[in-house]
Amino acid sequence: MKFIRFKKNDYIGYGLWEEDKVKAIEGDIFGHYVVTDHFYNIEEIEFLTPCIPSKIICVGLNYKSHAEEMKMPLPEEPIIFLKPPSSVLAHNSVIIMPEMSEQVDYEAELGLVIGKRGKNIRPEEAYDYILGATCFNDVTARDLQKKDGQWTRAKSFDTFAPFGPCIATGVNYDNLGIELVLNGETKQKSNTSDFIFSVGRLISFISSIMELMPGDVIATGTPSGVGKLYKGDIVEVKIQDVGILKNYVR
Ligand code: MG
Repeated sequence: MKFIRFKKNDYIGYGLWEEDKVKAIEGDIFGHYVVTDHFYNIEEIEFLTPCIPSKIICVGLNYKSHAEEMKMPLPEEPIIFLKPPSSVLAHNSVIIMPEMSEQVDYEAELGLVIGKRGKNIRPEEAYDYILGATCFNDVTARDLQKKDGQWTRAKSFDTFAPFGPCIATGVNYDNLGIELVLNGETKQKSNTSDFIFSVGRLISFISSIMELMPGDVIATGTPSGVGKLYKGDIVEVKIQDVGILKNYVR
């Protein structure tokens, strides 16, 4: 199933996306809900972020090929950081380039949307806590990341956390093709089977530090091939069985 959150005139709600139609959902996709017979054509709705996270937890180095490319030793435990909820951006919306940065990079990532509250989750139970997968772009002001020595400013500008277009349930998180396409050209291409830390290990590790809440998003790291964005670009994150997250740069 593919859940979206959308706007149509004054109406904002969740929907179930089936080909070119969206069936309206009554209730909460993280709790009790009913899929209604009322539908919209996909062209007539505006995509919103598919959920509203209380926090976005991002993982640093998590692809073996990327570690090799950077000539970095494999980390012994995940490196994590946060992006604020105010940095979220929906599918089809515009990434705004901040004036204080000269180098803003894209990073295609698999996003995991947490489905229920959890603390100290064991790796083998982790999948029970995931509602589904989404496409995530960990937009980063690389120059400021290096300059500051810590990552809060570089990762936190408004519009620096595009994710969507949907939350896809029932996908095989540990074996998904992932690709970043910039102005029609493939720049990153990998598979989540190249993860250093599995989905189970990530959720277990993060939930041993902070309680996970429904709608929280975990961005699971980016493969090799990161690069710069320029004003006027069209950037797409494509994930197998999930969809395409498309954003414009201005
Ligand atoms: Mg990243």
